Amino acid sequence: MSGLLDGFGRVATDLRVSLTDRCNLRCSYCMPAEGLDWLPDETVLTDDEVVRLVGIAVRDLGVREVRFTGGEPLVRRGLVDIVGRTAAMEPRPEISLTTNGLGLARTAQALADAGLDRVNVSLDTIRSETFFEITRRDRLDDVLAGLAGAAAAGLVPVKVNAVLLRGINDTQAPELLRWCIDQGYELRFIEQMPLDAQHGWRRDTMVTAEETFARLREEFLLEPAEEPRGSAPAELFAVDGGPATVGVIASVTRPFCGDCDRVRLTADGQVRNCLFAREESDLRTAMRDRATDAELADRWRIAMLGKRAGHGIDDVTFLQPSRPMSAIGG
Ligand code: SAM
Repeated sequence: MSGLLDGFGRVATDLRVSLTDRCNLRCSYCMPAEGLDWLPDETVLTDDEVVRLVGIAVRDLGVREVRFTGGEPLVRRGLVDIVGRTAAMEPRPEISLTTNGLGLARTAQALADAGLDRVNVSLDTIRSETFFEITRRDRLDDVLAGLAGAAAAGLVPVKVNAVLLRGINDTQAPELLRWCIDQGYELRFIEQMPLDAQHGWRRDTMVTAEETFARLREEFLLEPAEEPRGSAPAELFAVDGGPATVGVIASVTRPFCGDCDRVRLTADGQVRNCLFAREESDLRTAMRDRATDAELADRWRIAMLGKRAGHGIDDVTFLQPSRPMSAIGG
């Protein structure tokens, strides 16, 4: 039985599943202060529907890694149960979670017990005033508690994702790295991408990976880490001779689309073959119209065939996807 092969020979084995488009933060580079028009409840996949589609991906389509995201996946009530049912699948996939960390202190142990392997926690600053400026919420302490809770529950290595914004937190990159190293967390800087609901992203003002390196090199010695990068988006560097590392995900300035092994399922049951895809394939309607597992698997395979060679952010013809990151699943 064939897997998720695209027209350029890439095979998707890493599934990102958005469990909700809702979030309890309002990061300025992601969504407006007032939030967004959330998906109508009846269009959001039920827990059983999520588990059924993930099961097809794992059993029939060769998916080996499942990452739950959103919106904010911790606001999804059925999360622990969904993780547990995913962990029971054969072959058992790697299971991870991308979260803003709010409430993670309370749920980390239950998630680990259910079978969650790892977490990526998004944190752009360790200064509370900058945290408020970026997220529009005064919740830094909750995020820090969530990180500590994840480490205590054995969800290691705990990874931290940070986006740098010019004039807001870009000069704080070294202090964030130092703090993460002290805490034993693996930090990755992600270039800001044109995926915000407000369409405020600008190529000429975004903070590039090159600038991030330059700023970090003022305080640290960075050398390419030895482990092979493979299809991982982050370029890894040993910090001050190691063993600590820092990653930089240069999605815009050094795209890694040629090695992409990802596919996405939105909270309302649409397959997206790329973050920047302009088309989606509707598995929810097919599933609710009683499609069989084999039919859903076929639809999913077909959806991959249209995957473009690259996201084309730097092309003059580039069009930002109509859904923002929070609705696609970051
Ligand atoms: N709520 C969860 C979280 O905060 O991790 C999961 C969803 S969030 C959309 C996933 C990641 O996408 C976060 O690390 C966030 O910083 C990042 N993100 C959101 N908008 C982005 C953008 N325009 N460019 C780059 N990263 C972005």
